Amino acid sequence: MQEKCIIIDTNLYEKDFTKDKNISEEKIMCAKLDQLQGKTPEQLLAEAHIATIPVDLAALLRHFKIPIIPKDFSKIENESPEMKQFIKENGRILGAVVVENDDISIFYTKRDFIANIMFTIAHEIAHCCLHTAEIQNGHIQYKNDCKITTDEKEIAANEFAIRLLIPEMQLHAEYTKLLVPLSDILAKKFRVPLNVMEKVLTTFNLPFYSPRQLIKWGVIK
Ligand SMILES: [Zn+2]
Repeated sequence: MQEKCIIIDTNLYEKDFTKDKNISEEKIMCAKLDQLQGKTPEQLLAEAHIATIPVDLAALLRHFKIPIIPKDFSKIENESPEMKQFIKENGRILGAVVVENDDISIFYTKRDFIANIMFTIAHEIAHCCLHTAEIQNGHIQYKNDCKITTDEKEIAANEFAIRLLIPEMQLHAEYTKLLVPLSDILAKKFRVPLNVMEKVLTTFNLPFYSPRQLIKWGVIK
């Protein structure tokens, strides 16, 4: 199956709700954001006692008392001509993190594959840890697909998400178990998009066979 042009190529759209909702301009750190600020993926996993794969993001977020909510973004995507234009240029909304007062909620689109949803959620968690100041008190961030991102924050959030979903030690352990290193087997084990797994294997200089190559060589149909 052809992997969609997804998540790893993202763009960020930020909407400032402070004006709409009369939220104070003064920034008071949200308690839940405070507990995530500056943490590494490894620290999050250790704190939530998660050591198995696929990484149980639901359990991780339960530990930090952050709800994950499936959402149909189509209403937001069509709410104004400007938004429609934005979606046309940047692709549809995959996920969002909303911070209001002392609460954080992570939303994800239901219209996606599970591996993509996992990556979206991990990406939003990354923003909470890395870009805490920018997202606190009344900011919403939408993550969109189908664009190669050059935004440094988006790149950093993607790299964080990869480390969260594919811990290096587990990757090496699972890799060495395979007689034939097939990227799609590893992607399924870690429940991540195939393009994400292949990027990580390349980064670690771990040779692999891709389903695309095997189809090309006629090994599989
Ligand atoms: Zn993002």
